[in-house]
Amino acid sequence: MASRRQKDSSDGYQPLFKSFATDAIHVGSEPEQWNSRAVVPPISLSTTFKQHEPGKHAGFNYSRCGNPTRSCLERAVAALDGAQHCFAVASGTAAILTIAHLLKAGDEILCMNDVYGGTNEYFSKIAVEFGLGVSFADLTKLEEIKAALKPNTKMLWIETPTNPTLKVVDIKACSDIVHTHNKDIIVVVDNTFMSPYFQRPLALGADVCMYSATKYMNGHSDVVMGLISLNRDDLNERLKFLLSALGTVPSPFDCYMCHRGLKTLHVRMKQHFRNAMAAAQFLEADPRVDRVIFPGLPSHPQHELTRRQCSGCPGMISFYIKGKLEHASTFLSSLKLITLADSLGGVESLAEHPASMTHVTVPENERKELGISDTLIRLSVGLEDEEDIIADLDQALRATEGPIEQ
Ligand SMILES: *Cc1c(COP(=O)(O)O)cnc(C)c1O
Repeated sequence: MASRRQKDSSDGYQPLFKSFATDAIHVGSEPEQWNSRAVVPPISLSTTFKQHEPGKHAGFNYSRCGNPTRSCLERAVAALDGAQHCFAVASGTAAILTIAHLLKAGDEILCMNDVYGGTNEYFSKIAVEFGLGVSFADLTKLEEIKAALKPNTKMLWIETPTNPTLKVVDIKACSDIVHTHNKDIIVVVDNTFMSPYFQRPLALGADVCMYSATKYMNGHSDVVMGLISLNRDDLNERLKFLLSALGTVPSPFDCYMCHRGLKTLHVRMKQHFRNAMAAAQFLEADPRVDRVIFPGLPSHPQHELTRRQCSGCPGMISFYIKGKLEHASTFLSSLKLITLADSLGGVESLAEHPASMTHVTVPENERKELGISDTLIRLSVGLEDEEDIIADLDQALRATEGPIEQ
């Protein structure tokens, strides 16, 4: 029965990646790499490493430049992304900053118009001060991409599904268009929402794949970290230099924690998908809800593309509650099991109000254009029992039916 259900929910999607679970658990954790034969990689706190001759060392010299615990995590993530190289960095934001430093003043980034609030903010408020140009386009409309490319466009920034309106971008089509135009344009995909369990951007033509590992990769809401995967050797050399020169590196303890979380990524993502599908179906059938956005629902505008591009969907659902701001507020304040909080991708279910929380820094007119209205609610469906999640959604929706305080 269980295996039958699993088959149904992944019907028509990309097949899962071979040996994903085995790699998640074993790559980077080989006991033979340690004299002690430790089965779990130790946390290596030393900031410096003995050299046997000046300039000759056993792989590590200074912890900002490389660290054994970090290296174990990086090898695991590279395997999961189908990548030659991976870098762990201090946060998802540090990943964005480090990748943006691949460019120089005068270069331009073409960015998906609906992206993580911090990405928008970094590009439009900080990078522009350093001479980078930034323009935004709706990358779900392929014909808009060509028109938006300029002679100095050097990077395409894709986030898919987008945050919070969960638009799905065709990574392969976008990569083909920009690489045909100019093969030197660096295509970056923020893969935070899907994780490598459901989507491998590098295999779809992207040059760089990045994560806020704070979300699904670590998965337990107790580490802030970022990850960057890639196959191109030239970019790898440059990123290695940048990481060390910018100092955007994570701590060994956080690397250990994230590596531990990563070992159950496949188990967690499968269950996030099931729970989110159940919650999305419940919400879609509910008269108190205006519209549900979940790429796993046939009603999603890019549902077919999602099946073609991904092996499943994460626990992210956005929906418009009927009524106005007060109804959204009452719903969110009435939740008991689901926690009203920023962030996503952990084992616990979270809910938030993008217009006043995660996307408050996006200018109001842009929010309106993107559909980030006062009635939009974003859920990160966790791993609690499906019935309990739905019961909590139901009772909070019921609270919006009575007289609402204005
Ligand atoms: C959270 C998030 C980021 C930023 O990551 P931090 O780890 O918070 O710095 C970037 N992109 C997406 C899609 C995110 O959800």
